[in-house]
Amino acid sequence: MDAAYADLKERLGEIHDLQKTRALLAWDQQVLMPPGGSGVRAEQIATLDRIAHTTFSSDEIGRLLDRLESFEADRPYDSDEASLVRVTRLDWEKARRVPAELRAEMSRASSLALPVWAAARQTSNFALFLPLLRENLELRRRYIDCFDTYDEPYDVLLDDYERGTTTAEVRAVFERLKVDQVPLVAGATREGERPGRDRPFPLEAQRQFELQVLERFGFERASWRLDPTVHPFASSLGTDDIRLTTRYHEQNLDGLFASMHECGHGLYEHGVSRSLERTPLARGTSLGLHESQSRLWENLVGRSLSFWRFFFPRLRDTFPEALGDVELEDWYASVNWVQPSPIRVEADEATYNLHVILRFELEQELLAGSVEPAELSEIWNARMLDYLGIEPANDRLGVLQDMHWAGGHIGYFSTYALGNVISAQIWERIASELPDLDAQFEQGEFGELRDWLTERLYRHGRKFTPKEMLERIVGGPIDPDPYLRYLGTKLATLT
Ligand code: ZN
Repeated sequence: MDAAYADLKERLGEIHDLQKTRALLAWDQQVLMPPGGSGVRAEQIATLDRIAHTTFSSDEIGRLLDRLESFEADRPYDSDEASLVRVTRLDWEKARRVPAELRAEMSRASSLALPVWAAARQTSNFALFLPLLRENLELRRRYIDCFDTYDEPYDVLLDDYERGTTTAEVRAVFERLKVDQVPLVAGATREGERPGRDRPFPLEAQRQFELQVLERFGFERASWRLDPTVHPFASSLGTDDIRLTTRYHEQNLDGLFASMHECGHGLYEHGVSRSLERTPLARGTSLGLHESQSRLWENLVGRSLSFWRFFFPRLRDTFPEALGDVELEDWYASVNWVQPSPIRVEADEATYNLHVILRFELEQELLAGSVEPAELSEIWNARMLDYLGIEPANDRLGVLQDMHWAGGHIGYFSTYALGNVISAQIWERIASELPDLDAQFEQGEFGELRDWLTERLYRHGRKFTPKEMLERIVGGPIDPDPYLRYLGTKLATLT
């Protein structure tokens, strides 16, 4: 093998080790760490970020990339080798623009803001969080200033999560969703009592039931974990070290859907080709593609009738007190219940995107300065009324509900709605190639679906841009029509 390539791969492997160590510290911070550890943990994470960033953005990496130009050109575009050089060059050019001190300041500010946000959310005290929000916004403005080639400042933030996707492209998709989804929600909103809610669901039984579901999806005890946390997430420390987190509610089974969601993220990371391990390609293409998989497993699989034909009898046996008087059809209606609610992560499929669009618009206005952080809570509540017809009772149920802005992840939210849109595009393709999926789900079989997704998407890791990846799977660009078709058809059978 080419000596420069071997050298590059070894250096990237070491940087990858630092980043995964950082991921472990972040996982620990949210799952195990006592609150007192947060100050020192912020320093530890900032140190790892700084070392990784300095090592990666060095002249030496640049010289190796220069030496590898013909090596890359001689190899197929989709080969591991050419892809590693191509993607690394793009990453490197971007990283070079950001001073290591700014990078470390951004990660330190986020780590320090997270516990303050958690306390502010707990007590519904937006004023407590406000100075940290201001600081995170200011740091993002300084970050944007490091770049000069963009149409809109927000493009820079979006590109970190969805490479090559512009604000204008996202806006066009969202405008279409807004036009069609607001009336769809109004027409499909359910009244009356939702079956199987506010009943006792003992926590340990929930956990056991969830593991049964996840194991059929592909969770393996030798390489996965599932732990409780405040805000569910999935983290991969290695292709065979997948950490899922979830939260449980004693009166309903919303936690199961959070777990299926995170499992979709885990399956993607677990499905990446082992040949890409310890490289920057050993993860999903983008957040939008990633979210397409969490939403696919949570909604297109986990809220389908065929899924529940298999699992509902088992669920009723597990929770006889809660579900003894509930029929399959009622349960199916319950898990697909459309009702505007204040919390994004608990939103149904029809209202979910509207929560995201609200955040996407506010982020741009905050960055542009047309919305003052101090007015945010008030504006949030007014928009909720516009889009969803409800007003949160307090900031805990409103502007303070998500951790993203505390974590500095501005630009991230839009990928959730892009994920919904992409999940339906991929699903239409799957349905045309695997016509008897429903029959398999009714038997509790999900292997053929998982294998199809691994072959077409997961194994490629981060070799391609989101646009290239989508083009390879569905043969075209992002398109909201399949999602609107899916939603329209499903809601028509339910109301
Ligand atoms: Zn997700």
